[in-house]
Amino acid sequence: AMVEPDRQVESVCPYCGVGCQLTYNIKDDKILYVEGRDGPANHGRLCVKGRYGFDYVHHPHRLTKPLIRREGAPKSGDFTMEPNDIDKIFREATWEEALDMAAKGFLKIRDEKGPNALAGFGSAKGSNEEAYLFQKLIRTGFKTNNVDHCTRLCHASSVVALLECLGSGAVSNPVADVDKADVIVLIGANPTVNHPVGATWMKNALRAGTKLILLDPRTTELSRQATHHLAFKPGSDVPMLNAIMHVIVEENLVDKNFVAERTLGFEAMKKHLQKYSPELMEPICGIPAQTLREVARLYATANTAMILWGMGVSQHVHGTDNARCLISLSLMTGQIGRPGTGLHPLRGQNNVQGASDMGLIPMRLPDYYKVQDDSARHKLEQLWGSEIDSKPGLTVVEIMDAIHEGKLNGLYIMGENPAMSDPDANHARQALSELDILVVQDIFLTETAYLADVILPASGFPEKTGTFTNTDRLVQMGRTAIPMPGDARQDLWIIQQIAQRMGLDWNYDGPKEVFDEIRKAVPSMGGITWERLEREHGVVYPCEQEGDPGEPIIFTDRFPTTDGRGLFVPADIVEPDERPDDEYPYILITGRMLEHWHTGSMTRRSNVLDALEPEAVATIHPLTLEEMNVRPGEMVTLSTRRGEVSVVARVDEAVPTGAIFMAFCYYEAAVNKLSNAALDPAAKIPEFKYCAVKVTPG
Ligand code: SF4
Repeated sequence: AMVEPDRQVESVCPYCGVGCQLTYNIKDDKILYVEGRDGPANHGRLCVKGRYGFDYVHHPHRLTKPLIRREGAPKSGDFTMEPNDIDKIFREATWEEALDMAAKGFLKIRDEKGPNALAGFGSAKGSNEEAYLFQKLIRTGFKTNNVDHCTRLCHASSVVALLECLGSGAVSNPVADVDKADVIVLIGANPTVNHPVGATWMKNALRAGTKLILLDPRTTELSRQATHHLAFKPGSDVPMLNAIMHVIVEENLVDKNFVAERTLGFEAMKKHLQKYSPELMEPICGIPAQTLREVARLYATANTAMILWGMGVSQHVHGTDNARCLISLSLMTGQIGRPGTGLHPLRGQNNVQGASDMGLIPMRLPDYYKVQDDSARHKLEQLWGSEIDSKPGLTVVEIMDAIHEGKLNGLYIMGENPAMSDPDANHARQALSELDILVVQDIFLTETAYLADVILPASGFPEKTGTFTNTDRLVQMGRTAIPMPGDARQDLWIIQQIAQRMGLDWNYDGPKEVFDEIRKAVPSMGGITWERLEREHGVVYPCEQEGDPGEPIIFTDRFPTTDGRGLFVPADIVEPDERPDDEYPYILITGRMLEHWHTGSMTRRSNVLDALEPEAVATIHPLTLEEMNVRPGEMVTLSTRRGEVSVVARVDEAVPTGAIFMAFCYYEAAVNKLSNAALDPAAKIPEFKYCAVKVTPG
């Protein structure tokens, strides 16, 4: 007979930035199944991850006791999911011992080598409250701004460009606004895989007559419904977008009133675009000039047109330039500030928006105030009763480099897995193993925890209460559904225990008290009360005063820049950092897949999802496979200048010829051992979407 739940708890999906609301159905403290709830972002829908990716919380691999590395145990060797030598590497410890060891290790480094020899990585998967307290600990306990998280690897470039041009890093319109758009421009994003429920709003809009312009080197499920699919050459975003803007200027399709009233820098932009005619750009981006002209007209003359983008835009050494072009496109046509228009960088993790809002970034305080901004810093110093360094800290990849240089010796990681997610992962793993002290707080023995000195067993997503901010700036409430296993503890408790041992007098009585402080530190959320979140499940910010409804659409009459205007920032062509050559003739593109989430630590421990996609695959176009002399299903070795992995070759016509696509979720074939750590100069985001690779059979 079907087992009936004995209770239900309402919460939010832990995976992507769409932020679907769901109900956990529980019996005897075990989650039996999950159902979609009628939230603003999902209206009852869930994708395969939200529906089936919950049983990781009950997996036998859950960490249930603090662990300490045994004296002399080597920090090397490759992680395996079932490490049989685990007892040789770690021993169980009490919380007291583990926390003391962690805090003493950090204090010793801080006092002997200075605060900047320490750093912290927070998590885009934790709650706002956890992100906020974590960065506060790093800034006031460690006393450094060396605090970052995976936004650096995801939309850092989009945020830099948005802040620079429009004064705010957030999306202008919610995803669901696509139903009010006559034209959708979707670039460098595969929402049916990465934001599946968001994609259903796009499909609905297309059925109702909205036109889709898809700009993507890969064919995706939405290509079939696109009016135009421009499969441009990987890495040629800027020449393509400049050519489109060239047409808009040349053919007088500019919204002159909008440009005159609400922007700056158009004349320089116009001049800059002269050299980017579609005819000149055609051989560079591989798109016929005529098509570029058609697309320009379609976007510019639409009543309402909205641009959405993903990591295909952001993860390049020219990621900031790509985003600058998209912003300019919307400004010159006035396609922003109204329903069905605007700019929407689709956020990846379920709280990457919130973690960034909370100041989990090295150059920005909570609510995006620059750390160099004296007045913002002083206000926060008063609230916190502690000094804050005025120098920006190091970013994720820079922290790894600083460890290699011997300048950074202690690292606290909460809920991130850089051993899998950082570019050039061998280099990152080497760095992690060179630290004097690495403290990892997580729910599984991840590839990163495998290199730790102290491991602190933390709370899984359904085991705690907290707020999460989705890609639409919607703040939602996640609720405790089940108890934690063994001796695992709440992340908020663990952060505070470390803080107290480092001399901070912290005693927050749970997430609500932290949230109340957040409302003071983040003015744009000042009007959101805990009670309202409990009652309404979600509120959109900006919401500065209690009772404000919240603003789903922003930039309606001004941009939050000093003079209220949006700025055109011209972008020139920058080549990808590592081009294919005779030795490494193909292009490697990394990304995600529908069934597995990021580094796989949760989804590969979810039965249904693991059964759907159990083994590491690389997808390759049939013509390219033939050229390689490889049959589908055979093993291939992918190698770059940084490393190699062996993987099953899967045929896929969606991948451009001459390229290989691989998701980064497989510990046994960690594709980030191959990826290139070259950085975008403005945003310090690495080029995950392009490097040169060689493929050999076997
Ligand atoms: Fe979860 Fe995203 Fe799927 Fe919604 S679309 S169920 S938030 S993974």
